[in-house]
Amino acid sequence: RLRIIPREDHTVSRKLFSDAALKVLYRLHNAGFEAYLVGGCIRDSLIGRIPKDFDVATDATPEQLRDLFRNSRIIGRRFRIVHVRFGREVIEVTTFRGKPNDDHGEHLAHQSEHGLLLRDNVWGNIEEDALRRDFTVNALYYNIADFSIHDWADGVRDIESRTLRLIGDPVTRYREDPVRMLRAIRFAAKLDFHLDAATEAPIRELAPLLLQIPPARLFDEVLKLFLAGHAVATFQALREYDLFAMLFPEADEAMAELPWAEPLIERALANTDARIRDERPVTPAFLFAALLWPGVTRRMETLTAEGMPPIPALQAASQQAVSRQLQHISIPKRFSLPMRDIWDLQQRLPKRRGKRALQTREHPRFRAAYDFLLLREEAGELAPGLGQWWTAFQDADDHERRRLIDKIG
Ligand code: ATP
Ligand code: MG
Repeated sequence: RLRIIPREDHTVSRKLFSDAALKVLYRLHNAGFEAYLVGGCIRDSLIGRIPKDFDVATDATPEQLRDLFRNSRIIGRRFRIVHVRFGREVIEVTTFRGKPNDDHGEHLAHQSEHGLLLRDNVWGNIEEDALRRDFTVNALYYNIADFSIHDWADGVRDIESRTLRLIGDPVTRYREDPVRMLRAIRFAAKLDFHLDAATEAPIRELAPLLLQIPPARLFDEVLKLFLAGHAVATFQALREYDLFAMLFPEADEAMAELPWAEPLIERALANTDARIRDERPVTPAFLFAALLWPGVTRRMETLTAEGMPPIPALQAASQQAVSRQLQHISIPKRFSLPMRDIWDLQQRLPKRRGKRALQTREHPRFRAAYDFLLLREEAGELAPGLGQWWTAFQDADDHERRRLIDKIG
């Protein structure tokens, strides 16, 4: 089953790897351990992309790694790995995993009744390690001992045909870890690969398994889905496979009711992709503001119809929408607070008389709120006009500003 591709028969060169990654590999090798680069960095190198982060697999245990690298720490419980830090770069080092079921009858503690892997810290050899990785193209190992590539699951063939294929039985693999469904979508969009038929087939039916995943892990995963520069394609695929509703149920419902909701989210994601392409900063706060806004407005409508004034209605609707969302995906305060500022400012932007426009202009979240307002107009939630006024106001001198305020009438 194993195919070894010698150094002279592949294009992966050490020049593509960071100094930090090479240091980790050589130190392990010199200490007598096996050391391989594995996963995304080898896959991306073979496709001709510059790898950005490096994962190392070894037979050294986390404790042995701690002894070998002063600049390291053990992280994770469900899946213990070691982070070795060199300046700003972190190399992830994992000990070869074995099959959890071989754990001397202890396996029940590792797996829930639905087949979900709760912990995965049973050490094994490289073959076992390879076969419990997710996709064939992610099970390619670059051996620092002789610069060969070890291909355990015909990953090179799948790279050549641009196919994303789970190793083993797809239903079992998705049940073990439903996040693999999100990873399938993410890699397909990022690499421009297609899903193998058997890998694709069970996704719609198994999508609800995502409801078992802890919100903190889904938050990390959602950022990877939407901040990799292919957010629009990813969003469309998530909807196609019924996965989006498992992550953002209220947005999914709102899209069926409000004609502007889908354009709003799609434009926010397109903006994000464009910013990443231009290497401009992006904030998850803006992204979440857009993803949750359709749900917020629906709740607000209900509250105002019951007679609540607009300002408290927005407060209450925001509060409710966020706490509902937190059941699925946790949003750290450092993102949810600016997100709510962006929403609050939507009620302040129309009020421009006297000193109010100038005060709003000074708000630290003005720029994001203004961008958000433009998004709402472009998506058709609001008639255009206010956005243009603010565009003019920002560039204007004092005299011109006075004229703009007088013109409001
Ligand atoms: P990228 O870093 O470009 O997003 P990657 O393939 O390196 O892609 P990581 O999340 O860094 O993805 O994981 C590194 C490797 O660990 C993967 O290539 C895969 O072999 C393995 N892996 C990660 N997550 C899982 C999972 N949920 N199930 C099985 N194997 C996984
Ligand atoms: Mg990686």
